[in-house]
Amino acid sequence: MTTIADKLQQVRTRIDAACKACGRDAASVRLLAVSKTFPEAALRAAHAAGQSAFGENYVQEGVAKIQALADLRSAIEWHCIGPLQSNKTRVVAEHFDWVHSIDRLKIAQRLSEQRPAQLPPLQLCLQVNVDGGANKSGVTPPEALALARQVVELPKVRLRGLMAIPEPAESFEEQRALFLRATALYEEMRAAGMPLDVLSLGMSADLEAAVAAGSTMVRVGTAIFGGRG
Ligand SMILES: *Cc1c(COP(=O)(O)O)cnc(C)c1O
Repeated sequence: MTTIADKLQQVRTRIDAACKACGRDAASVRLLAVSKTFPEAALRAAHAAGQSAFGENYVQEGVAKIQALADLRSAIEWHCIGPLQSNKTRVVAEHFDWVHSIDRLKIAQRLSEQRPAQLPPLQLCLQVNVDGGANKSGVTPPEALALARQVVELPKVRLRGLMAIPEPAESFEEQRALFLRATALYEEMRAAGMPLDVLSLGMSADLEAAVAAGSTMVRVGTAIFGGRG
């Protein structure tokens, strides 16, 4: 039987190989374990195998796990990676460390207002829609810089980078080209003075192309925890 520890090791090996293939330092890519739909025991197994950053898509489910793993709270970084509605911002601001899916100012403002004073700023990424996928959330690339300029002014959040989920492509090169749209926007925004240091790109099926395009954080679920049925 392949354990979660084995699969985590396989994913780390893939990341290392992808870095080597494009001459990057393996330490420049963080692994976010996407644990949506998987139970507390699976997260504990991953944590015991050295994984410390977890991503959840659904707010209620994520908060339930944060509470179930309260004994490990200081050892785990919790990332909210799913679409976020206004009525869920308070519970996210109170429980999570990161949000990757900011696509409008209103949500960032609410998170900043609702972030408890005793907690460090909530770390944010803007989600960008780089391929115009119709059912996709995210700002368009031309909208991203203006949104970033407003988000960096908010007191209790810290803008860290961009997140994108491009459509699956036919080949490695085409997939990489889609990710590179996010990388190009990221570089453009940095050149415009935005203090970004995170590119959240790549999942189980396409992490190699994402690393080749400059990803600094891959969000991997299936390859660590198995299929979600
Ligand atoms: C589910 C999910 C992932 C992980 O996808 P896998 O294909 O299981 O690795 C990554 N990012 C987001 C935003 C997701 O919703």
